[in-house]
Amino acid sequence: MLKKIAPIAIAVFMCAGAAACASSSSKGNSGGDSAAEVVVKGEFSADSAYEFIARQVEFGPRVPGTAAHDSCAEFLISEMERIGVDSIIVQRGEVTAFDGTVLPICNIISGINVDKARRVLLAAHWDTRPWCDRDHNPEKRKHAVLGANDGGSGVGVIMEIARNLVQNRPDIGVDFIFFDAEDYGDASGFSDVPESWCLGSQYWAEHLIPYTVNNMPVYGILLDMVGGQNARFHYEMFSREMAPTPTMKVWSTAARIGHGDRFIQSLGGAVTDDHVFLCRAGIPTTDIIEMINEETASFPPTWHTDHDNMEHIDKASLRAVGETVLNVLYNEK
Ligand SMILES: [Zn+2]
Repeated sequence: MLKKIAPIAIAVFMCAGAAACASSSSKGNSGGDSAAEVVVKGEFSADSAYEFIARQVEFGPRVPGTAAHDSCAEFLISEMERIGVDSIIVQRGEVTAFDGTVLPICNIISGINVDKARRVLLAAHWDTRPWCDRDHNPEKRKHAVLGANDGGSGVGVIMEIARNLVQNRPDIGVDFIFFDAEDYGDASGFSDVPESWCLGSQYWAEHLIPYTVNNMPVYGILLDMVGGQNARFHYEMFSREMAPTPTMKVWSTAARIGHGDRFIQSLGGAVTDDHVFLCRAGIPTTDIIEMINEETASFPPTWHTDHDNMEHIDKASLRAVGETVLNVLYNEK
């Protein structure tokens, strides 16, 4: 995934992030403050989300045009059916990557409470990058990324959220889109253009399935790299500029339910991700993504390397994100 971080912004805002972290409270401790009463609705299971990720990873890298990619698509479709969503649309198409490769893509679109006009969209990319181009070992750079965190984690958390929402319906409609071909972009440097990434969401935005003018989602939440070890999530710059309402809802909800130590209320960097193209399509969408890792001061150390595997998935990170998003949805009327 392209993740273009503005170094100046990071340098400036990292100090603020550290300060916000220090003032966070632990989950479940409302401290007797009735205005900040902690009510965590739903039963988000980090074990279940972890399992949803592991099932994807078992297919191997999910690069468009490969058998593993096709098999995983079938798994995701059948699993959403089993979870019990009300609708599933499989959008297939072809896109051309920056290097001329024609990619057969598959966006998987589902939803619950399909009769509700007020809707929120949850999204994640499910494909994985064809190259470990950030790996320290040059040999491994030719291999595809396994994508436990970068690809698997957002989808796994959304699947577990969907499982909750089917069993305990919110007052609104919720849609889930698993975008393809997010991570086939050009990272060569100077020729790097944002539009070479997020090909699945750009394709989707041309059609906006299944929406009409009457039921467009009021906002969206994108989950990307949400399962890293001790992951923390800062405000992403484009999200705060183009989608301030969902950004504030997510981060304030996290603070209210005791995940303020994970959702840091300060600016991280600017990241080109699927939410940029959703915002351009008229759906203000915030991106929950780890972009200031304590070790790298950037994306998680496994990012676009051979180490993006299940060993580095942190259930506590999954829980913080899953409970937060679930509570945002249950508080919508
Ligand atoms: Zn990526």
